[in-house]
Amino acid sequence: MTNENQSFYQTIPLLFEQSAGLSSRGRRGVLLPKTGVEETPLPNELLRADLNIPELDEASVVRHFTRLSQQNFSVDGQFYPLGSCTMKYSPKMNEEAASQRGFRLSHPLSSDTCNQGSLELIYRLQEALKEITGFEACSLQYAAGAHGELAGLLMIRAWHLAHNNSQRKRVLIPDSAHGTNPATCGMAGYAAETIPSDENGAVDMAALKEAASGDKAETLAALMITNPGTLGLFEKNIVEINQIIHDAGGLVYGDGANMNALMGIVKPGELGFDVMHLNLHKTFSTPHGGGGPGAGAVMAGKTLGAYLPGPVTVQKGTPAYCLEQPASSIGRLKVFNGNFAVLVRAYAYIRAMGAAGLRQASEQAVLSANYLRFLIKEHYPTPYGADRPCMHEFTASPDLGNDIHTVDIAKRLIDYGFHPPTVYFPLIVKEAFMVEPTETESKETLEAFAGALTKIAEEAKTQPELLKNAPHVTPVGRLDDTAAARNPVLRFEGN
Ligand SMILES: *Cc1c(COP(=O)(O)O)cnc(C)c1O
Repeated sequence: MTNENQSFYQTIPLLFEQSAGLSSRGRRGVLLPKTGVEETPLPNELLRADLNIPELDEASVVRHFTRLSQQNFSVDGQFYPLGSCTMKYSPKMNEEAASQRGFRLSHPLSSDTCNQGSLELIYRLQEALKEITGFEACSLQYAAGAHGELAGLLMIRAWHLAHNNSQRKRVLIPDSAHGTNPATCGMAGYAAETIPSDENGAVDMAALKEAASGDKAETLAALMITNPGTLGLFEKNIVEINQIIHDAGGLVYGDGANMNALMGIVKPGELGFDVMHLNLHKTFSTPHGGGGPGAGAVMAGKTLGAYLPGPVTVQKGTPAYCLEQPASSIGRLKVFNGNFAVLVRAYAYIRAMGAAGLRQASEQAVLSANYLRFLIKEHYPTPYGADRPCMHEFTASPDLGNDIHTVDIAKRLIDYGFHPPTVYFPLIVKEAFMVEPTETESKETLEAFAGALTKIAEEAKTQPELLKNAPHVTPVGRLDDTAAARNPVLRFEGN
């Protein structure tokens, strides 16, 4: 640990070293008054002698949880440039909106008449998203982006089956795709087939044509494509690509998780996509990460609109807003109206921003990413599309020498108080380092982050072991990520 790296962590006592000693036999946070009810002994078979419940006073409990909450990274605490995740600052006003009594207390089983306000909000959000994306239909029940992907592919499958196309089983996916895309394919009963990128990071057009022509056209179900792709580049041939798929009898799924470069500028619904999901918890400003609630929206054009999962909210008669199943709906994918509070936040965000504000957010997100890419390009060059502007994010491929890898840079950034970018994804970039600054960060923050990265590049030359052993200021150092996910320790292990 070096003195100049005064990270916020250093102001926090290292809890993990302390926690084992916090409990003390007989210590209590509260004493309940005598009830006057006669005590009944508990049945012996329900009692355990070895139940090691921590015994603490109230202040220790409050401090314990407050410290724990501060030991995690959060957008409210630090710059969080996690590529493809759009960790933008979410205005607190949205929380205020989502916690309005009428929304908070409305019961999903109460009648449509009682829920007119909530239904109107869902309806208005559907309309707003249709306007933003240029699609004709929208449904809003999904728990996450990947859930929306599944809905979209099941809609495509239902459409093919309705058109006697059961032999269409192949789904083409560019090699730069988000990992959820091939996983979704598998879940929907399709075979994912990789389409390579060309040297500019765009879809290899020759490979695409080959996979969608001749005999192969007969078995093609769909293309699943992200634009801008995970390299942060806009796919210039997108209209032609979508046409090639349609000419072969396939449909096009657009992964719209990242609308942060497009809002107010491009309407994907006008580019030939048949169905697309949006991540409301990314672009439309809901705090997420760490397993927080998400919400996907699924948008569809003329071909697939009737296949959307239902119910969707429609406006007609009295009561004015009601739930309705689209004509050829594939059915329900989630109970009630999904994570409704996330929908409220998205609506509040869209209304507060307005059309001009959303466009400005996109422009600012793109400007931030390009500025940051420029500031660090000497040590963190972008191998694909270096001569083109990037969109809301970019993927660099650092080579700092001395056997320093992206993971070392990421861990060292933690010492400087920054959340690391996404690493080792997309797979086609060596030592991938994927940065998405978002529009809500100031020029000063971007420059401070670039400054830390420049320092790290110097450290790689002069003190490589500093990077190899990073982080130095956190309660725990390098963890086995896989084991941590597979065998989490969730239980208090007291003394
Ligand atoms: C985040 C993301 C997804 C998946 O969204 P979840 O809400 O995490 O399921 C899919 N595709 C892309 C491009 C993404 O960035």
